[in-house]
Amino acid sequence: MAQKLVVCPYCGCGCSFYLVTKNGRATGIVPSNNHPVSRGALCIKGWNSFEIINHPDRLDTPMVRDHGIIRPALWEEALDMAANGLMSIKNRYGGDAIGFFASAKVSNEENYIFAKMARAAFNTNNVDHCARLCHSSTVAGMAASFGSGAMTNSIDEFEDASVFMVIGSNTTSNHPLISSRIINAVKQRGAKLILCDPRCIDLAPLSSIHIRHKIGSDVALINGFMNIIINKGLEDKTFIEERTENFEKMAEVVKKYTPDYVSGITGVEPELLVKAAELYASTKRSMIVYAMGITQHITGTDNVKSCANLAMLTGNIGTPSSGVNPLRGQNNVQGACDMGGLPSVYSGYQPAADLFVRNKFEKLWGVDKLPEKKGLTVIEMGHEIEKGNIKALYIMGENPFISDPDAKHMHRALKKLELLIVQDIFPTPTSEFAHVILPAACFAEKSGTYTNTERRVQLSHQALPPLKGTLPDWKIICEISKRAGFPMDYNDPSEIMDEINIATPSYAGITYERLEQGWGIPWPCPSKEHPGTKFLHKDKFTRGRGLFHAIEYIPPAELPDAEYPFTLTTGRIRPHFHTGTMTRRTAILDREAPNPFLDINPEDAKSLRVRTGDKIIVESRRGSLKLPVNVTSNVPKGVVFSTFHFKEKNINDLTLCAVDPVAGIPEYKNCAVSIRRS
Ligand code: SF4
Repeated sequence: MAQKLVVCPYCGCGCSFYLVTKNGRATGIVPSNNHPVSRGALCIKGWNSFEIINHPDRLDTPMVRDHGIIRPALWEEALDMAANGLMSIKNRYGGDAIGFFASAKVSNEENYIFAKMARAAFNTNNVDHCARLCHSSTVAGMAASFGSGAMTNSIDEFEDASVFMVIGSNTTSNHPLISSRIINAVKQRGAKLILCDPRCIDLAPLSSIHIRHKIGSDVALINGFMNIIINKGLEDKTFIEERTENFEKMAEVVKKYTPDYVSGITGVEPELLVKAAELYASTKRSMIVYAMGITQHITGTDNVKSCANLAMLTGNIGTPSSGVNPLRGQNNVQGACDMGGLPSVYSGYQPAADLFVRNKFEKLWGVDKLPEKKGLTVIEMGHEIEKGNIKALYIMGENPFISDPDAKHMHRALKKLELLIVQDIFPTPTSEFAHVILPAACFAEKSGTYTNTERRVQLSHQALPPLKGTLPDWKIICEISKRAGFPMDYNDPSEIMDEINIATPSYAGITYERLEQGWGIPWPCPSKEHPGTKFLHKDKFTRGRGLFHAIEYIPPAELPDAEYPFTLTTGRIRPHFHTGTMTRRTAILDREAPNPFLDINPEDAKSLRVRTGDKIIVESRRGSLKLPVNVTSNVPKGVVFSTFHFKEKNINDLTLCAVDPVAGIPEYKNCAVSIRRS
């Protein structure tokens, strides 16, 4: 029996555990008492994560499409077909006719060389990944306000916070180990919780104040808080004076967001707004914690900037147990962004449009000319495929057929491709369209680093050899790149990290040697002597002064009307993860939540004459689904909720492809639907 420390393959909390193996198979999990996030605990997904390693559905043979039929192939044939196909398209149409989807589920090293291959071998910046769909507005909004787009404080600091403002985060479902810190702080220390969520989520009974504002009214809500804080003189004048700029313009805009005016937009009583604003401003240990309820709107970037405004207004930033803390969804979504798996930046958020940056990477990578043209986002690539401008897509560990909004549009797009390469551990609805399928080793079968939501870079150890017939993602990428005429000869992921150290200032001091000796290092870590950075923006913001933004409220893109009178909002549930490719193959998790559902308020259920378990037809302007209803007052009247974990009833058939104009993130949290009995 052997045990190796690995990083959990699921959420951005970044728990690690010892994976127990016997005779070449994973047999169980032992948590680590010493791990700074896990502290001996795991959630139901982490405890059961070993089951996917041995699952009989694992892809274990490369496949190629031959005269329309997908058939098994040898690795050489599949790699040649993938690389030759990509080169043929590059030669005929140019590199920008190819799109690359990096992955929030694979390591930093793998994302780094995937983006490197796209730019150096195929000369395109068309590289993006699912962060576009969850936190691209965080990256854009926080970079604009502070100069860097990541969680400002650490999970440990939740221990000493006096007030939590949790907005748009169903923390117990999506970040269970972080939610336990909030729960302990409230129950054991008497910390206060301001919960801003239209739904009555699990944290609601613990909250001092629960604000159930209308979906999509976050900017108005936060402007209202700021109006109250300024009018009561609760702002931190010294901090504003010494550390920020543009305060006057912001203050001018929020003047009209009086409690009564905001109440009219949000549906929240003015007195509750006042109480919440006073409580948030009452201490220098107020932490804002948010997730996709803030980011997945057409105003996602404005929502993030509003959170930043509120923190700066009260001086709750740049100090312990304060800040603006986005909770990232997948175990390496932070790292995939850090490594340049985005169309506009190289690793460490170095702008691709900057000639100096391009010259630096040309020299490091030994290429004559890196691409200048701005790359496309995941959503834009879908549109360009439909228009016939993108001919090939290389998808590593993503499932856009289920995860992208208005999924029928993605269906049409994938069918149009000349070449679709899918690299994954399980067959997915997306791989059904593939011309080449490359079976990858899973999280336990390779080593590599992963960066959790608090910027902690951790080393995950190889516990098992790759399943027979599979290869680690980094080896597959190197094989494709070599065949495309750009060899990347790494013997081990640690050699890739050596290059990341040179390429990426914020990762310069994060080496395998150091990671072996501890529990990870939070970036920025500019040198091998630097301990890493627990909280950001102490004394000075990354951009110098923090920038206030003057932001007006605008309503969601698609409001309910006579034809589509309900608002559909989507999210996740605790037992499942993302598109369900792993959790739905885990017996205990599938037992906990085996079926899709639609939450509906009792008053709406009564007027529709439906009870829990009855089937209804829910329809938007883009599609319809038949779903069983779950009658619950957890959702407000007029709102229905469902998840995207169930491929057989993909809620994204209904969602809307309206995007935030800055970050390109779709408005998953709001679309108009009708409901009728089936
Ligand atoms: Fe894994 Fe997240 Fe659960 Fe921790 S909280 S065990 S990282 S899924």
